[in-house]
Amino acid sequence: MEYELVIGLEIHAELNTSTKMFCGCHNDPLEHHPNVNICPVCMAHPGALPVINRDAVEKVIRVGLALGGDISAYSQFDRKNYFYPDLPKGYQISQYKYPIVLGGNLHGVRITRVHLEEDTGRLQHIDTEMGHESSSSGQQATLIDYNRAGVPLMELVTEPDIRTAADARAFAEELHQILRYVNASDADMEKGQMRIEANISIRPLGETTFGTKVEVKNINSFRAVEKAIIYELQRQQEVLEQGEKVKQETRGWDDVNQRTVSQRSKESAHDYRYFPEPDLPPLNLTAGGGFDIEHIKNTLPELPTAKRARFETQYALPSKIISFLVSDKPFADYFEQASSELAAWLGESKRSEFQKASAILASYMSSDLQSLLVAKEAHITDTLITPENFAELVKMIYTNELSSRAAKDVLARMFADGSDPSTIVEEENLRQVSNASALDEIVKKIIQENQKPVEDYRAGKTAALQMLIGKVMKETKGAANPEIAREVLMKLLEGAQ
Ligand code: ADP
Ligand code: MG
Ligand code: ZN
Repeated sequence: MEYELVIGLEIHAELNTSTKMFCGCHNDPLEHHPNVNICPVCMAHPGALPVINRDAVEKVIRVGLALGGDISAYSQFDRKNYFYPDLPKGYQISQYKYPIVLGGNLHGVRITRVHLEEDTGRLQHIDTEMGHESSSSGQQATLIDYNRAGVPLMELVTEPDIRTAADARAFAEELHQILRYVNASDADMEKGQMRIEANISIRPLGETTFGTKVEVKNINSFRAVEKAIIYELQRQQEVLEQGEKVKQETRGWDDVNQRTVSQRSKESAHDYRYFPEPDLPPLNLTAGGGFDIEHIKNTLPELPTAKRARFETQYALPSKIISFLVSDKPFADYFEQASSELAAWLGESKRSEFQKASAILASYMSSDLQSLLVAKEAHITDTLITPENFAELVKMIYTNELSSRAAKDVLARMFADGSDPSTIVEEENLRQVSNASALDEIVKKIIQENQKPVEDYRAGKTAALQMLIGKVMKETKGAANPEIAREVLMKLLEGAQ
């Protein structure tokens, strides 16, 4: 029997505000020293009162607008009551009935809601070796770091509209980009700034009612989103084929063993005893309440989908390269700054030349520059190369002043010390020699010094010519234009016979 997947995602993202959700503490959950970003409010001391962080509210509004959702004119915080050691108040301030955002759509997946809440502290379970008393299993202890307690957290819930593991991953990756584009969250999954829970069920193909869902937590990468769903499809299929029923439960993704494991059953809904947070006023998300939604909408940056479409028409680049450039806004911005230099240089009318030059730029950025950045664990915003200098390098490649071999060396030096390409080319004498007569002397010398390949070539082994070209390139430190070198070699080899 063939089965179809049904997937709905619940995604949490820590907002990159400077302070926490309800107090003035520094929002830095990655702070190395535990329990330094804390105060009576986020430590739930009696009588300490929360104050809403306006910036966090605005970031959620921006996300909602970017997803085409409706911003609720009336929104409200609720208490979600449950006990956990990382939750000092004994309840979490969240939103239940009146979330900030309702509706929206991304990649054809309907967004149910986006709401605002606070993050919990962080528990760390450790093994302590207690001297002579230590048992083989060691002593267990738990440390609690409250630096993260009260950090603004956004939760987005989708409708169960996703049908494949690849689509679930694509949705998460696109949302990740949007969160960064609108500057709501840094959304680094490795750092726990973006956390994905996948609700997964299966049903026989053609069936219209949903099957029983399993909720998978602890998904720590985009790859794992895909893997966990594929694993669940397989597992649930086997359960059904054995005539059993899928149990409604929470499972965790075990990245080491690449499988999901049961964590707890979820037979009945929790009763969190939600009620309106009495210490906070409701939110009036209208111009009257100080939130000019139209204005916020108008100040959103160009979003990835629109940018990809514009890049397509403006630069006519392959879609893979466009996706790469657009995936990181500063990278796309850098490309456009350098490319505008090329446009100014070539002039308005020369559209196809401009696109050709831009393609060289895009290709050097996505391969060579990207490798240099990765090797240094650096980001485009750290590079010493100015967009103007990068455009200068592209001009030299475009006009054949630089061979592609030499261009790589020049780029590496630009990257290392930020110097401009024309200086490097002068200093290292790398200007491509395209002038045939200038190569004559060098080619004569190479022929003199390499009698064996010369004879081979004359005996009909054409591969020997490639070797001689290589010698010329080496002699000129890559400055010779290989096409011209080939022509001069052939001319002199024929002539001297
Ligand atoms: P719960 O009350 O268990 O949290 P919700 O109805 O609030 O369940 O849905 C939570 C998430 O699970 C949403 O993303 C929703 O789209 C998804 N979901 C609901 N039912 C199913 C199902 N049968 N299969 C897969 N996902 C589902
Ligand atoms: Mg849920
Ligand atoms: Zn605090």
